[in-house]
Amino acid sequence: MEKSKRKLSLPAWIFIGMVAGILAGLAFLKIPEFTDEWIKPIGTIYINLLKFLVVPVVVCSITAGVISLKDLKRVGSVGVKTFIYYMFTTALAVVIGLVIVNLFKGAFQPLSSTELGDLAYEAAEAPSVMDVIVGIFPDNLFGPMVSADMLPVIVIAIFFGAGILAAGERGKKIGALVEDMNEVVMKIMMMIIKITPIGVFCLMTNVVAVNGPKIVGTLALVIGIAYLSYLIHVVVVYGLSVRFLSGMNPIKFAKGIYPAFICAFTTTSSNATLPLNIECCNNMGAEPEISSFVLPLGATINMDGTAIYQAVATVFIAACYGMNLTIGDMAMVVLTATLASVGTAGVSGAGMIMLAMVLTSIGVPVEGIAIIAGVDKLFDMGRTALNITGDATCALWISKLERNKKAKVAAK
Ligand code: ASP
Repeated sequence: MEKSKRKLSLPAWIFIGMVAGILAGLAFLKIPEFTDEWIKPIGTIYINLLKFLVVPVVVCSITAGVISLKDLKRVGSVGVKTFIYYMFTTALAVVIGLVIVNLFKGAFQPLSSTELGDLAYEAAEAPSVMDVIVGIFPDNLFGPMVSADMLPVIVIAIFFGAGILAAGERGKKIGALVEDMNEVVMKIMMMIIKITPIGVFCLMTNVVAVNGPKIVGTLALVIGIAYLSYLIHVVVVYGLSVRFLSGMNPIKFAKGIYPAFICAFTTTSSNATLPLNIECCNNMGAEPEISSFVLPLGATINMDGTAIYQAVATVFIAACYGMNLTIGDMAMVVLTATLASVGTAGVSGAGMIMLAMVLTSIGVPVEGIAIIAGVDKLFDMGRTALNITGDATCALWISKLERNKKAKVAAK
């Protein structure tokens, strides 16, 4: 047999890493301190490497994406379509989450006042809706890049690309430089992606070893409800989108996206998964100029999994306090969870912080977050995987639209 035939592909190794991680986690169930001290740090090194690359990837790929769209009108039209798709699918996600969690609501018991009295959660960090909107616009160039605050970084990159296009001839040299820089960053990214199986193994081992015993009773039920809603969203919304908007076989899509899906599942960060998601989408036939614009934007503003989690968690926490949500409350949840997911950074655990915004909007005590905080990682794994899958479906759809447009122009 030839050597190359015996070699397993990267996705296969990633899968093996995950399964081995689950088995190792089960083996270490009794000594979670060991995994926490020795195995998790190796996973952290992997995440750090991905994270340090996030700002250069976003700046280079969005700027290069804008430049390759060639005229500002096209940037606007792709941008508007992307934004509408993202908001629409996110609102659908909240609705799915609310419907499913309401079906099971009867199983949630209000907690006793002693149990509730013990809760403490510092929620000072949750911004208001207007704060989120104002925060999108940077007041200086470097601050958002240093703190990896992605919404303003995206705005900077879009302006940079738009400026290069508007400058015409004079902007060409710097445009070429950005494109070369983008190539270099992508090469670094490929080097880091190669160690994904090891990162996935270490992260998975730790999650299973540390959280294993905690997944009992009601918490297991809420996690199950969230995962059921994630699944319905993937099958119905993404399945239909891939099939009818992108004209692609959903099974083929599932096979194409799964390396990025597992990476998101284990790193719990859309930002960290961005490089691999770009790679997967391009392999599935997305136009590179589209995926380099749509995916970084999606990693920052499109969070369907987070929105589902926020809907499910809100109804659950309210039930723990013996509160029943009205239809008006639910409508408010749809609105705020959609906005909160836009404001959620694509990093681990960010969705839980933004949950405070949703709870506050309908008067559910924010301290309630403490009830689910201990198992947030488990929610986060599924929601992040969903978040990046949604971005990929959009990249494929917009690519198809752009291809159709080109074909029409060529046929004229
Ligand atoms: N971890 C999620 C992401 O990066 C955000 C969240 O916490 O919901 O997509």
